[in-house]
Amino acid sequence: MIKNSRKPGKLLAVSGPSGVGKSTITNQLRSDDRFWISISATTRKMRNGEVDGIDYHFVSDEIFEKMINDGDFLEWAAFAGFKYGTPRKAVDEALALGKNVILEIELNEARQVRKNSKNAILIFIEPPSWDELTTRLINRGTESELSTQARLARAREELSAAAEFDHVLVNHQVDASVSELVSLALR
Ligand code: 5GP
Repeated sequence: MIKNSRKPGKLLAVSGPSGVGKSTITNQLRSDDRFWISISATTRKMRNGEVDGIDYHFVSDEIFEKMINDGDFLEWAAFAGFKYGTPRKAVDEALALGKNVILEIELNEARQVRKNSKNAILIFIEPPSWDELTTRLINRGTESELSTQARLARAREELSAAAEFDHVLVNHQVDASVSELVSLALR
Protein backbone atom coordinates (compact mmCIF):
# COMPACT_ATOMS: atom_id res chain seq x y z
CA MET A 1 0.00 0.00 0.00
CA ILE A 2 1.27 3.47 -0.85
CA LYS A 3 1.11 5.69 2.20
CA ASN A 4 0.50 9.41 1.79
CA SER A 5 3.39 10.74 3.85
CA ARG A 6 2.73 14.33 2.87
CA LYS A 7 2.30 16.64 5.82
CA PRO A 8 -1.26 17.99 5.74
CA GLY A 9 -1.66 21.73 5.30
CA LYS A 10 -3.19 24.11 7.82
CA LEU A 11 -6.60 25.67 7.65
CA LEU A 12 -6.28 29.41 8.18
CA ALA A 13 -9.43 31.45 8.65
CA VAL A 14 -8.62 35.11 8.07
CA SER A 15 -11.10 37.61 9.43
CA GLY A 16 -11.27 41.26 10.41
CA PRO A 17 -13.31 44.38 9.82
CA SER A 18 -14.20 45.65 6.37
CA GLY A 19 -11.43 47.91 5.05
CA VAL A 20 -8.66 46.34 7.10
CA GLY A 21 -6.93 44.83 4.04
CA LYS A 22 -7.89 41.15 4.26
CA SER A 23 -8.22 40.60 0.50
CA THR A 24 -5.07 42.57 -0.29
CA ILE A 25 -3.16 40.27 2.05
CA THR A 26 -4.73 36.98 0.96
CA ASN A 27 -4.53 37.89 -2.77
CA GLN A 28 -0.74 38.00 -2.47
CA LEU A 29 -0.80 34.29 -1.68
CA ARG A 30 -2.74 33.30 -4.81
CA SER A 31 0.44 32.76 -6.78
CA ASP A 32 2.16 30.88 -3.93
CA ASP A 33 1.69 27.14 -4.48
CA ARG A 34 2.04 26.37 -0.77
CA PHE A 35 -1.37 28.02 -0.37
CA TRP A 36 -4.85 27.49 -1.74
CA ILE A 37 -7.58 30.13 -1.41
CA SER A 38 -10.99 28.55 -0.93
CA ILE A 39 -13.62 29.12 -3.65
CA SER A 40 -17.07 29.69 -2.21
CA ALA A 41 -20.38 28.44 -3.55
CA THR A 42 -23.12 31.00 -4.06
CA THR A 43 -26.71 31.20 -5.27
CA ARG A 44 -26.26 34.69 -6.71
CA LYS A 45 -26.08 35.17 -10.48
CA MET A 46 -22.73 35.44 -12.18
CA ARG A 47 -21.60 39.03 -12.83
CA ASN A 48 -19.95 40.14 -16.04
CA GLY A 49 -16.34 39.04 -16.06
CA GLU A 50 -16.78 36.38 -13.39
CA VAL A 51 -15.88 32.77 -14.13
CA ASP A 52 -17.65 29.76 -12.66
CA GLY A 53 -15.22 27.70 -10.60
CA ILE A 54 -12.77 30.59 -10.25
CA ASP A 55 -14.62 33.49 -8.66
CA TYR A 56 -17.30 31.26 -7.17
CA HIS A 57 -19.08 28.00 -7.79
CA PHE A 58 -22.42 29.33 -9.00
CA VAL A 59 -25.18 26.93 -7.95
CA SER A 60 -28.98 26.86 -7.85
CA ASP A 61 -31.01 27.33 -4.65
CA GLU A 62 -31.90 23.64 -4.78
CA ILE A 63 -28.30 22.51 -4.93
CA PHE A 64 -27.26 24.93 -2.17
CA GLU A 65 -30.12 23.66 0.02
CA LYS A 66 -29.06 20.06 -0.60
CA MET A 67 -25.46 20.92 0.27
CA ILE A 68 -26.63 22.46 3.57
CA ASN A 69 -28.68 19.36 4.38
CA ASP A 70 -25.83 17.03 3.46
CA GLY A 71 -23.46 18.94 5.79
CA ASP A 72 -21.27 19.92 2.85
CA PHE A 73 -20.40 23.39 4.17
CA LEU A 74 -17.72 24.35 6.67
CA GLU A 75 -19.75 27.52 7.10
CA TRP A 76 -22.43 29.36 5.18
CA ALA A 77 -24.46 32.58 5.46
CA ALA A 78 -27.19 34.50 3.71
CA PHE A 79 -26.29 37.92 2.36
CA ALA A 80 -28.45 40.39 0.37
CA GLY A 81 -30.95 37.70 -0.60
CA PHE A 82 -28.40 35.10 -1.69
CA LYS A 83 -26.52 32.33 0.06
CA TYR A 84 -22.75 31.90 0.25
CA GLY A 85 -20.76 29.03 1.73
CA THR A 86 -17.40 27.29 1.95
CA PRO A 87 -17.56 23.76 0.51
CA ARG A 88 -15.84 21.41 2.92
CA LYS A 89 -14.73 18.77 0.40
CA ALA A 90 -12.44 21.01 -1.68
CA VAL A 91 -10.88 22.37 1.52
CA ASP A 92 -10.21 18.86 2.84
CA GLU A 93 -8.73 17.77 -0.49
CA ALA A 94 -6.38 20.76 -0.62
CA LEU A 95 -5.32 20.13 3.00
CA ALA A 96 -4.62 16.46 2.21
CA LEU A 97 -2.40 17.60 -0.66
CA GLY A 98 -0.38 19.58 1.84
CA LYS A 99 -1.71 23.00 0.85
CA ASN A 100 -2.35 25.63 3.48
CA VAL A 101 -5.93 26.67 2.91
CA ILE A 102 -7.04 30.27 3.37
CA LEU A 103 -10.63 31.22 4.09
CA GLU A 104 -11.38 34.93 4.06
CA ILE A 105 -14.47 35.21 6.22
CA GLU A 106 -16.50 37.39 8.56
CA LEU A 107 -16.70 37.07 12.35
CA ASN A 108 -19.83 34.90 12.54
CA GLU A 109 -18.48 32.58 9.87
CA ALA A 110 -15.15 32.32 11.71
CA ARG A 111 -17.16 31.20 14.74
CA GLN A 112 -18.84 28.49 12.62
CA VAL A 113 -15.44 27.34 11.36
CA ARG A 114 -14.18 27.17 14.95
CA LYS A 115 -17.09 24.84 15.76
CA ASN A 116 -16.82 22.72 12.60
CA SER A 117 -13.08 22.35 12.31
CA LYS A 118 -11.12 21.84 15.50
CA ASN A 119 -7.74 22.29 13.79
CA ALA A 120 -8.51 25.61 12.13
CA ILE A 121 -6.25 28.52 13.02
CA LEU A 122 -8.27 31.70 13.40
CA ILE A 123 -6.42 34.87 12.48
CA PHE A 124 -7.80 38.32 13.12
CA ILE A 125 -6.46 41.25 11.07
CA GLU A 126 -6.51 44.52 13.00
CA PRO A 127 -5.99 48.03 11.67
CA PRO A 128 -3.02 49.95 13.15
CA SER A 129 -5.58 52.30 14.71
CA TRP A 130 -9.26 53.12 14.64
CA ASP A 131 -8.50 56.41 12.83
CA GLU A 132 -6.63 54.58 10.11
CA LEU A 133 -9.53 52.16 9.52
CA THR A 134 -11.99 55.06 9.32
CA THR A 135 -9.76 56.82 6.79
CA ARG A 136 -9.36 53.65 4.70
CA LEU A 137 -13.10 53.00 4.62
CA ILE A 138 -13.95 56.57 3.69
CA ASN A 139 -11.20 56.77 1.05
CA ARG A 140 -12.39 53.59 -0.58
CA GLY A 141 -15.12 55.77 -2.05
CA THR A 142 -17.05 52.77 -3.29
CA GLU A 143 -19.59 52.85 -0.50
CA SER A 144 -22.39 55.29 0.17
CA GLU A 145 -22.19 57.37 3.36
CA LEU A 146 -24.78 55.12 4.99
CA SER A 147 -22.91 52.01 4.09
CA THR A 148 -19.65 53.46 5.42
CA GLN A 149 -21.37 54.27 8.72
CA ALA A 150 -22.86 50.77 8.86
CA ARG A 151 -19.45 49.22 8.14
CA LEU A 152 -17.82 51.33 10.86
CA ALA A 153 -20.46 50.28 13.39
CA ARG A 154 -19.87 46.66 12.46
CA ALA A 155 -16.11 47.15 12.58
CA ARG A 156 -16.38 48.33 16.21
CA GLU A 157 -18.31 45.20 17.05
CA GLU A 158 -15.83 42.98 15.20
CA LEU A 159 -12.78 44.57 16.84
CA SER A 160 -14.20 43.72 20.24
CA ALA A 161 -14.18 40.02 19.25
CA ALA A 162 -10.43 39.88 18.51
CA ALA A 163 -9.80 37.91 21.72
CA GLU A 164 -11.72 34.91 20.30
CA PHE A 165 -9.01 34.42 17.66
CA ASP A 166 -5.80 32.41 17.92
CA HIS A 167 -3.64 35.21 16.50
CA VAL A 168 -4.07 38.92 16.03
CA LEU A 169 -2.08 40.42 13.19
CA VAL A 170 -1.85 44.21 13.05
CA ASN A 171 -1.80 45.27 9.40
CA HIS A 172 0.77 48.10 9.49
CA GLN A 173 2.19 47.14 6.13
CA VAL A 174 0.90 44.56 3.64
CA ASP A 175 4.19 42.76 2.91
CA ALA A 176 4.94 42.35 6.59
CA SER A 177 1.43 41.02 7.23
CA VAL A 178 1.77 38.52 4.37
CA SER A 179 5.10 37.32 5.83
CA GLU A 180 3.51 36.91 9.26
CA LEU A 181 0.65 34.91 7.77
CA VAL A 182 3.11 32.69 5.89
CA SER A 183 5.12 32.04 9.04
CA LEU A 184 1.98 31.14 11.00
CA ALA A 185 1.13 28.61 8.29
CA LEU A 186 4.61 27.13 7.98
CA ARG A 187 5.73 26.89 11.57
P1 5GP B 1 -20.39 39.33 -3.52
O1 5GP B 1 -21.76 38.89 -3.92
O2 5GP B 1 -20.23 40.82 -3.61
O3 5GP B 1 -19.31 38.59 -4.26
O4 5GP B 1 -20.19 38.94 -1.98
C1 5GP B 1 -21.11 39.34 -1.04
C2 5GP B 1 -20.68 38.93 0.35
O5 5GP B 1 -20.64 37.52 0.46
C3 5GP B 1 -19.31 39.43 0.75
O6 5GP B 1 -19.43 40.04 2.03
C4 5GP B 1 -18.49 38.18 0.84
O7 5GP B 1 -17.48 38.29 1.81
C5 5GP B 1 -19.52 37.15 1.25
N1 5GP B 1 -19.06 35.81 0.96
C6 5GP B 1 -18.36 35.39 -0.12
N2 5GP B 1 -18.07 34.08 -0.02
C7 5GP B 1 -18.57 33.66 1.16
C8 5GP B 1 -18.58 32.38 1.84
O8 5GP B 1 -18.05 31.36 1.41
N3 5GP B 1 -19.21 32.33 3.02
C9 5GP B 1 -19.82 33.42 3.56
N4 5GP B 1 -20.41 33.26 4.72
N5 5GP B 1 -19.82 34.64 2.97
C10 5GP B 1 -19.21 34.75 1.78
